[in-house]
Amino acid sequence: MNKLTIKDLDLQGKRVLMRVDFNVPIKDGVVGDDTRIVAALPSINYVLENGGSLVLMSHCGRPKGEKNMEFTLKPAADRLSELVDAKVVLAPDVVGDEVKALVDGLQAGEILLLENVRFYKEEEGKGCTSEDQDAFAKELASYGDIYVSDAFGTAHRAHASMAVVTKYIDQCAAGFLLEKEIEYLGQTLESPEKPFVAIIGGAKISGKIDVVVNLMDKCDAILIGGGMAYTFYKAQGKTIGNSLVEDDKVELAGQILKKAEEKGVKLLLPIDNVVADAFSAEANTHVVEGNIADGWMALDIGPKTIELYCNEVAGAKTVVWNGPMGCFEMEPFATGTFAVCEAVAKSDSVSIIGGGDSVAAVKQSGMADKMSHVSTGGGASLEFMEGKQLPGIVALTDK
Ligand code: AMP
Repeated sequence: MNKLTIKDLDLQGKRVLMRVDFNVPIKDGVVGDDTRIVAALPSINYVLENGGSLVLMSHCGRPKGEKNMEFTLKPAADRLSELVDAKVVLAPDVVGDEVKALVDGLQAGEILLLENVRFYKEEEGKGCTSEDQDAFAKELASYGDIYVSDAFGTAHRAHASMAVVTKYIDQCAAGFLLEKEIEYLGQTLESPEKPFVAIIGGAKISGKIDVVVNLMDKCDAILIGGGMAYTFYKAQGKTIGNSLVEDDKVELAGQILKKAEEKGVKLLLPIDNVVADAFSAEANTHVVEGNIADGWMALDIGPKTIELYCNEVAGAKTVVWNGPMGCFEMEPFATGTFAVCEAVAKSDSVSIIGGGDSVAAVKQSGMADKMSHVSTGGGASLEFMEGKQLPGIVALTDK
């Protein structure tokens, strides 16, 4: 980790502008799942305990550059005030005179949460000039002596509060959460203990193709599951019935299979599948090996594939997993995903779970605490695995 971290900072009497990810689900004005708020607490408490005050900023939902109070951070502010032993004030806006006055009055040990940064189009930089975005970021920067980012979930976005504000503050550091993400994902991908097995699933091949390509140079085996497997099937000339397929990616899938063969990488596809006659939990189902007949769609990996994949995982020293093995939201098609999840949990490996749906599956299975690291960022962890530099990390100050 060659970036400044929160521990490198002298926080006494300083105002810390911290980007957090409070993009939490909200129902009837109340936070549903507060995981993301809880995940930011170590950094928040560290600043307060070391004599600093905090100006927090986050986005929530997609207000599309307008001050739409449907997306207010009020529920997040309420939940945060229950979780910390400090005064929490929600600013009425993101920038402007009123906000500035609140920032100026902030005392050590207090927290001011700015309103949803996406109330301004300058945050995402869509529909405004880069000068406008700079001016917005500069105003945000004026609220802090020091900048800390703990928002891994948005680190792949070059937004004002992540990657522009940093131009106007000398010391920009990673918070504990961001540091942990970088440490796990970065170190694991750079120097994984072998055998290194990647499990890649989910609906579409398109979002994950670059991950597969990048991991091919690093992994001993790549296990493919979920809807994306059947685009590979089609590339192999198998019939796939009504299974999910991306026709415009069949050729690419074929090239990847060829490349894996040339490189001697074990790229495994399901050998059997649970097929259904409808996309429904009430559908008729059976297990089939190889070709999938007309009128049927594959919605989960079958028992032989489960055994094969679980054996690979059992022998691994490093496992990364992104994307479910089937439609795990429907009970009849959840077996593959949960079996793989259990195998990862039981394995003697450094295990990293990245991405929305596999994280949801791991949590649902109750095995999250058996994993070495459950990433808080879906898109961000995918881009990391693709080998890309994340703007929100690049923008931080080098040590
Ligand atoms: P992703 O966001 O790409 O990780 O995809 C996750 C979604 O893929 C989940 O909602 C799963 O239900 C879905 N999925 C997994 N396997 C299949 C499949 N065989 N057919 C259709 N959808 C699937």
